[in-house]
Amino acid sequence: MLLQAQRQKVIEIALKAQRDKLIPLTMGNFSIRDKDTGYVCITPSGMEYSLLQPADIVIVDLYGTIIDGNRKPSIETQLHCRTYAKRADVFGICHTHSPYATAWACCGKEIPVIVAELAGMIGGPVKCAPYAPMGTIELANIVAEHIGSQNAVLLENHGMLAVGENIDQAYANAVVVEEGAKVTLYAVQIGGMKTITDQECKNLKKQTMESYGQK
Ligand SMILES: [Zn+2]
Repeated sequence: MLLQAQRQKVIEIALKAQRDKLIPLTMGNFSIRDKDTGYVCITPSGMEYSLLQPADIVIVDLYGTIIDGNRKPSIETQLHCRTYAKRADVFGICHTHSPYATAWACCGKEIPVIVAELAGMIGGPVKCAPYAPMGTIELANIVAEHIGSQNAVLLENHGMLAVGENIDQAYANAVVVEEGAKVTLYAVQIGGMKTITDQECKNLKKQTMESYGQK
């Protein structure tokens, strides 16, 4: 089977997102870009995650044309493909409707940086891409444009998208954005929120990239 290990990994991440409550039902989609072939392995549209088998994961090229698989790919396949096309450094994408991040997206507001992890992993405030209907090329283009060089972006009235150098990193970024969105909401309610400066965001990002985790 073409890219079986990558297909299996996509299922593992989708199940983890469901378990961690980053997505209601199957309202999210997950993909890996294979470094050798350049193909994208993406979750199928609207299938129960607990039943997914590697054969259910669809393989498409960067234009979204199906290369292998019998299922209909996620309606957001173009969202993934356009983002990969724009970002040569990205090999994993998680799109979720996690509630706290989506709440910020529904107000069309970026999430300011008040927690150090957000600075370290995302690189600055999580910006909000303007609204476009789900599953459209218009949405794919707007999001690919607005993510810039950062590791996450909000989708107005919709959800969030996180990217990474692999799908584990993209997943970690999705979790950090959701936690950041939650803490920031509480901080706003308490009042007197203090944001981390742009310069300190840069320092924390550099520090995280250089020294966090087991090298
Ligand atoms: Zn969505």
